[in-house]
Amino acid sequence: MRIGHGYDAHRFGAARPLVLGGVVVPHDTGLVAHSDGDVLIHALCDALLGAAGLGDIGRHFPDSDPAYAAIDSRVLLRRVVASLHERGLRVHNVDATVVAQRPRLAAHVDAMRATLASDLAVAVERVNVKATTTEGMGFTGRAEGIASHAVALLEE
Ligand code: MG
Repeated sequence: MRIGHGYDAHRFGAARPLVLGGVVVPHDTGLVAHSDGDVLIHALCDALLGAAGLGDIGRHFPDSDPAYAAIDSRVLLRRVVASLHERGLRVHNVDATVVAQRPRLAAHVDAMRATLASDLAVAVERVNVKATTTEGMGFTGRAEGIASHAVALLEE
């Protein structure tokens, strides 16, 4: 078994849909990023790459590369999973925590789990997504952006 951890944060302010865990969440602003700004998937990719000893998402998909401009982060996630499979690694389970004061995410968590499970090629029971606020504290509490943590366990 191999364990990995990932963290990411993005700022609100983009005139694009808010996408979290591959799901469009209705909100008045999206997240600023070179890609679609899916902070949950970015943290998850880093957790998977970390578990495999493969560095981080910035090394594999540099934000200086126009090929990744506004890219659907699910494409990146599926590429990460493919590179794990090539190395004989499979996802055992993942767990993520999205830190957002708003919007409220509880109603979207099951859709995120199903979407991520599909890209990870695992059963939905092996994918957990949690959402929390920081009770108004810090940059997430002031609703300046959204952060996400993720951990992943891989089987060799
Ligand atoms: Mg990111």
